[in-house]
Amino acid sequence: DPVPLHTPDRQPEDPDAALRPKSLDEFVGQEAARGNLKVFIESAKSRGEAMDHVLFFGPPGLGKTTLAQIVAKELGVGFRATSGPVIAKAGDLAALLTNLEPHDVLFIDEIHRLNPVVEEVLYPAMEDRALDLIIGEGPSARSVRIDLPPFTLVGATTRQGLLTTPLRDRFGIPVRLNFYTHEELDRVVTRGARLLGMDIDAAGAREIARRSRGTPRVAGRLLRRVRDFAHVAGGGTVTRKVADEALTRLEIDRLGLDAMDRRYLTMIATTYRGGPVGVETLAAGLSEPRDTVEEVIEPYLIQLGLVARTARGRCLNESGWQHLEMTPPKGAQS
Ligand code: ADP
Repeated sequence: DPVPLHTPDRQPEDPDAALRPKSLDEFVGQEAARGNLKVFIESAKSRGEAMDHVLFFGPPGLGKTTLAQIVAKELGVGFRATSGPVIAKAGDLAALLTNLEPHDVLFIDEIHRLNPVVEEVLYPAMEDRALDLIIGEGPSARSVRIDLPPFTLVGATTRQGLLTTPLRDRFGIPVRLNFYTHEELDRVVTRGARLLGMDIDAAGAREIARRSRGTPRVAGRLLRRVRDFAHVAGGGTVTRKVADEALTRLEIDRLGLDAMDRRYLTMIATTYRGGPVGVETLAAGLSEPRDTVEEVIEPYLIQLGLVARTARGRCLNESGWQHLEMTPPKGAQS
């Protein structure tokens, strides 16, 4: 299986598109975000204007892309999607912007990874709905301003702080997405099971929800793997026992941590005696990019309180040692 099982990163041809909620009411959890969006959508619609630009930020797999699509749908406007690293040149962005219909939503995923030259083009586009283009070269070069249709830019990023200040300041509506509670994930799993035509009981759904790393994308992926497992094991209902067996076989522990999470914790515990250890050092030891460590692995472990991010580096907390069933060495700081 070439697809990593438990990472919340989006995969090409991600099958969880089938599980995407299509309206704000269908979207589980994130009460604050949904409540705010509802107000902004209603008010833009009643004024007959494009909605203000929105920035979604939070760990991968929490529903940023899904919400962007829902916003367009509820506004009753078109939806165009791209991502920061894909827009290579200023001209690519200009082409995208000039092709928008009035009030359309343009979604830019990983917006913190925009090329700085492209980002410069975005500022007047967001602020004045205009493009400043340089035509020609050398002494005959001149700047022309092109008006754009009113549009809504929806940006997505893992952390708000990754954006440059001028870009961040141009979003009228910043929206933070948080990890989901077990109860919310229970609803995500139950809904997913219904859409997939799966037979699952309440305890089975709860078990998958508890082990989904606070992330709907992970919940969808685990649900599908448990279904495969149940199928091979003779079909029938997914009970707590069936779910537990399947997840254990997938090396997902009772907190929902996967093999990479445990490698990370074990490395701090054994190689660095509980820390503090710098993130660069950990990333090198795990052979993972620093971004992956900071944006994918750490947020959930920190949320669970297993690890702390301190000024001098990462430290394993008491509950981290407990989860590994290890005792801190004498003199370890934790
Ligand atoms: P992000 O853009 O934040 O990485 P996505 O919007 O792509 O995350 O969401 C990943 C998947 O998780 C979606 O395809 C959808 O199936 C599921 N999902 C996300 N949020 C929810 C939610 N609130 N309720 C139900 N399913 C969700």
